[in-house]
Amino acid sequence: MPETLDFLPLAQKLKNSGPYTDEDVVFTKRAFEMAKAAHKGQMRKTGEPYVIHPFAVAMKLVDMQLPIEVVAAGLLHDVPEDTDVTVEEIQHAFGDEVATMVNGVTKLGHVRYTGLERYVENLRKMFLAMAQDVRVIFIKFADRMHNMETLYVIPESKRIRIAREVMEIYAPIANRLGMGEYRGLFEDYAFRYLSPKEYNWTKHLLEQSVKKAGPAMERALRDVEDALRDNGLRLANVHGRIKFCHSLYKKLKKYDKDINKVYDLMALRIIVNDVSECYGALGILHSMYTPLSGRIKDYIAQPKPNGYQSLHTTVFDEDGSILEFQIRTTEMHEEAEYGIAAHWRYKEFKSKDKKVRWMNDLVRIQKELNETDFMDRLDELKLDMFHDRIFVFSPNGDVFDLPENSTPIDFAYAIHTDIGNKASTAKINHQVVNLGSPLKSGDMCEIIVDKNRKGPSADWLKFVKTHHARSKIKDAVKKNKRSFLASFKDRSKR
Ligand code: MN
Repeated sequence: MPETLDFLPLAQKLKNSGPYTDEDVVFTKRAFEMAKAAHKGQMRKTGEPYVIHPFAVAMKLVDMQLPIEVVAAGLLHDVPEDTDVTVEEIQHAFGDEVATMVNGVTKLGHVRYTGLERYVENLRKMFLAMAQDVRVIFIKFADRMHNMETLYVIPESKRIRIAREVMEIYAPIANRLGMGEYRGLFEDYAFRYLSPKEYNWTKHLLEQSVKKAGPAMERALRDVEDALRDNGLRLANVHGRIKFCHSLYKKLKKYDKDINKVYDLMALRIIVNDVSECYGALGILHSMYTPLSGRIKDYIAQPKPNGYQSLHTTVFDEDGSILEFQIRTTEMHEEAEYGIAAHWRYKEFKSKDKKVRWMNDLVRIQKELNETDFMDRLDELKLDMFHDRIFVFSPNGDVFDLPENSTPIDFAYAIHTDIGNKASTAKINHQVVNLGSPLKSGDMCEIIVDKNRKGPSADWLKFVKTHHARSKIKDAVKKNKRSFLASFKDRSKR
């Protein structure tokens, strides 16, 4: 690849993806030029010019149809870390939003620990970053995805570490965010490097099955498409999907490695325009083929915990082959592939209050995380970092994670010891509250300090939750006593 990587493919992708305007193309081009100039002379391990990487990240963000600021931030995500260009310069050229996201990705990149601690630290950082601005996570996902695509050039020891991180952190978070496509790809890339033998075995099996069942699938696709159209259904799209390797492997382990027991190896997807058409399509399918009893699942009426919606049914075709159908609306489909990122799509983004929307999602995700095996695993490791944690915002949008039932005083000490020591009044979501009132996730807390205050009150020890606040209060109270005694002694000397 020559040093003169061309902007054209990105421009074309923008033009072909509905929501973007001509100004967006110009904006993105400027970000591209800045990234290219900043990374000039740098190479990736693949031997290509470095800018190939942020370029690929931006392409993925356009695939998700995220707002143009996210795409620009994707182009610039490695600039402050690896080049002489600073976040301030990015802010000057592209505004606050882009600069804040680039900064968020950069901060996410620093990890100080190794081993288990590194794992937890990573997870914690991801959550904090998500709570602050979920768009940072989309950039980080696209970044990591491109790195996985070229992982083969990385030394083996490092490769395994990265693959494990992807399997244990990125894939579960993608799953919780409902980003099925990213979850599947993350798992497959990681699987390939973590268990190459099992990966190759599964991949081979999958290829064989696809070769065998492919023709029947294609015929069914055509038949179904015709039948649905004849019945007056407005089809948005009909396509086949093949199961991801890792997900197949997990299923095979459950079924004695017998591939004939896996019915959803390949599935046919029917995408329609509204919910009533989903049920209409299901009816038509069942008049064409015999459904397998007990295999009809209505995830529209009862969505999966991560929000997934579709109708699933498994049927016999005329040759007795088993086919799985997934029926959903366009909206459900985009949600299933891109999850929370679908909420952030360009067209919706401008009109909705992003903070409220995101906080609702965050609360939902936290709740789910507390109920899943993922959290149980953390439990096994005796790591309770996320158990009973809440995320509290400062008025300028900084986020602090605190134990459940923390109070404004805990929050004040989490910001700074001086703020804790001189705290006089607290507001939660703009309402004046008692200094000992419990905080909830998503609360915005403001501490008003009294500069003349001598120090904390020993009464605070009765309600603070964090070790940090407790020890700071004790220190200050001790010091106050000492100075009181000292002044007493001074006086008695007189
Ligand atoms: Mn990167």
